[in-house]
Amino acid sequence: MIIMEKDATPAQVKNVIEEIQKCGLRADVSKGEYRTVIGLVGDESRVSFAHLAVMPGVKEAHMVETPYKLINREYHPESRVIEVGGVKIGGADPVFIAGPCAIESKAQLFRIAEEIKKAGAHVLRGGIFKPRTSVHSFQGLGAQGDEEAREALSWLRDAGRKFEMPTMTEVRGEMQVDLVAEYVDIMQVGARNMYHQDMLVQIARKNKPVLYKRHFGASVEEMLSFSEYIVAEGNKDVILCERGIVNIGRGKSYTRYTLDLSAVPVVQKETYLPIVVDPSHAAGRRDLIYSMSCASLAVGASGLMIEVHYNPAESWVDAQQAITPAELGRIISTGREISRLIAAGKRSG
Ligand code: PEP
Ligand code: MN
Repeated sequence: MIIMEKDATPAQVKNVIEEIQKCGLRADVSKGEYRTVIGLVGDESRVSFAHLAVMPGVKEAHMVETPYKLINREYHPESRVIEVGGVKIGGADPVFIAGPCAIESKAQLFRIAEEIKKAGAHVLRGGIFKPRTSVHSFQGLGAQGDEEAREALSWLRDAGRKFEMPTMTEVRGEMQVDLVAEYVDIMQVGARNMYHQDMLVQIARKNKPVLYKRHFGASVEEMLSFSEYIVAEGNKDVILCERGIVNIGRGKSYTRYTLDLSAVPVVQKETYLPIVVDPSHAAGRRDLIYSMSCASLAVGASGLMIEVHYNPAESWVDAQQAITPAELGRIISTGREISRLIAAGKRSG
């Protein structure tokens, strides 16, 4: 990481970039309010930091020890606020992302979109390519063919426009990157694809915000390290998502996964990227969504991603964890108050 002097000239910045490139690395330039910081992409052992430190205009040059560097708070102390379709993610107010686990029909999606908008949701999310454990279960309308995928994607785009919410859906494989990017505002990387570096690079190059979920067996460090594949492509609009990790022990845990709430403040200390929580997949049961949502906002999450259906028990996928739009409304109103209290406490603390 190279921190330039406050009054460093553009020519001095250029010289440093060229020096980095000569060593076979890429430079990631971040112009802050006060000074320019240059991050290095590649093998830092090939660079002489002692030499860079004495170049004109350079204030400090040192190696960042963590495997993630470009998303490190040390590199860029201000939190990143991601703006998409008028919604700010990572700002002062929590963001509520909601919708059905799977889009089942145009009527289902439009009805849910209308009802969650009334409840106060900001982003419309619906699955079109569903990752499923069994090949015999419903895989999402997108899996039925290109025409069906485009049709479902266009419903999502149209419902988003009609009810004024940016949209999001999961990209399950490399094959779908171009297609999904044509229709949605935010591209979701599911937990199972957290490690899929080739797909992360392809998605990053679409230059759209990415919701990036933690794998259920990944450490926080692994999540942050792999998210850097997106950022290294020059796309810093990454929204991290905690969605629970595998349960421990042999007996029942009574939840689908274990929501790792401490990941939220830890991630906020380590990186400037926003982090949201998905209590739906973590808990896997609707009676816990309210509590886990409140808890997630209490630890400072920038928002929530919740599965909603007007008739939860009839959902084609993940029926056991879907909640009604009315329940979502209750979470949103309590959630806003919790976030306000927490932010006020932080300011006075
Ligand atoms: C989802 O968000 O629909 C999903 C399948 O979640 P995850 O990737 O976290 O399992
Ligand atoms: Mn689901």
